[in-house]
Amino acid sequence: MLGSLFGVLGVDDSSSAPDGRGPDRTIRRADPINDPSAVFAQPSYTAAMPDCRFEEVSARVDRFTPDERTDRPVLGAIRGTAGTLIVDGGASPTHLGAFAAELAARDRPPIAGIALTHWHWDHSFGSAALDVPVIACEKTAAGVATQAAYDWSDAALEQRVRDGLELEFSLPHIRKELPDRSDLRIVVPQVTFAESHRVDLGDTTVELRWVGGDHADDSVVIWEPEDRALFLGDALYQCLWGDPVFLTITGTRALLERLTRFDPAYAIEGHDENIADAAAYASRLSELHAACRLVEELGDDAVAAAGQDADLVETVGYLLAGR
Ligand SMILES: [Zn+2]
Repeated sequence: MLGSLFGVLGVDDSSSAPDGRGPDRTIRRADPINDPSAVFAQPSYTAAMPDCRFEEVSARVDRFTPDERTDRPVLGAIRGTAGTLIVDGGASPTHLGAFAAELAARDRPPIAGIALTHWHWDHSFGSAALDVPVIACEKTAAGVATQAAYDWSDAALEQRVRDGLELEFSLPHIRKELPDRSDLRIVVPQVTFAESHRVDLGDTTVELRWVGGDHADDSVVIWEPEDRALFLGDALYQCLWGDPVFLTITGTRALLERLTRFDPAYAIEGHDENIADAAAYASRLSELHAACRLVEELGDDAVAAAGQDADLVETVGYLLAGR
């Protein structure tokens, strides 16, 4: 079955982040709705551009790296003696199927389920690649159910962008990742929870915990306590449903408070090429705290006070936009 999932994507895209932290989601392309050729005229994938790469993160944890060409996020796999739990359903069955094939090639334990970090299409539309339960918080399940009820024709999708129900940013990515959506099957999570849920994998028990935040109020983090691996999804990123995109001080601080219970040795974000170790993760969180303080105390002068630190300046900018 998996062999049929190795499609070749005739796509290319470049929305690279200036800071290497993930896609710069503020980039706007030249009117992809009224000029689809702006999307399809781009060069195809080439051998020079690597696909998602399989990485062994720790003894129990594997990762499929993100691919910004179609905004594919990180996929994760946590294994115990009783099975493997997949983190996020991915952008398409092709995406998740390719990761599942890599896991099978390494004789990982049978896949027991898929845990979603939030409802956004790139994290949930690939679940149909595997015939296993999808686990998510109730808000995420509701968000996926909304998407599953939509018409995914080009015309309907373009209309939703005009109506503000879909991000213009996502339109070219969806078209490229899922060029034929005539039989798109979006799997609504069957196992749901309100705040937290545990998945017993035998010699380790994985915790799914709702943390919310500005990016998506349904955001859940996924914690493997033995190797101390934390999948953050997109929880720490800005809200994309605004022009400009933004963070709020209240939302950021509440999120940071909910994350204090975790002390990861491996912190894995949804669209980051790199995995943060304990020190890098602490630095990431303290930068968010610092940006909140600067904006609260200095308002517009916070940009100048952030100095030459490009990441801090960027975060301050998001928080100023969210006041
Ligand atoms: Zn997202």
